Amino acid sequence: MSQNENQNPQLRGSRCGDCSTVAFPASVSCQRCGGSDTTEIDLSGTGTVWTATIQRFAPKSPPYVPPADGFRPFGVGYVELPEGVKVEALLDGDSPAELIGSEVVLVESHPVPRFATVAATPKEN
Ligand SMILES: [Zn+2]
Repeated sequence: MSQNENQNPQLRGSRCGDCSTVAFPASVSCQRCGGSDTTEIDLSGTGTVWTATIQRFAPKSPPYVPPADGFRPFGVGYVELPEGVKVEALLDGDSPAELIGSEVVLVESHPVPRFATVAATPKEN
């Protein structure tokens, strides 16, 4: 099996050595206490949707790059990871009501994090 980044997606964050606050993306200084004793860590690949909305119009371009077959609405929101950090991410889903509170798994880490609901992901056995 090849190890393409998006076949084995992984988010990297950082944890503060002084107050244990976890940050994403990884940061060289702590946003909470200002300490510089931070260590890069691998973040969990599963989390819970904290809030979400459906983006129904194309974002400003650049930086947004529309797909070759044109813009389609997509979910976007924040996923809370067990480490206690909220990650802004694209979300596979049709409505905020369906997404918010759902358990999701990381399916892509580049160019931006993307999560899908567990129910929508084929089970690996
Ligand atoms: Zn800190």
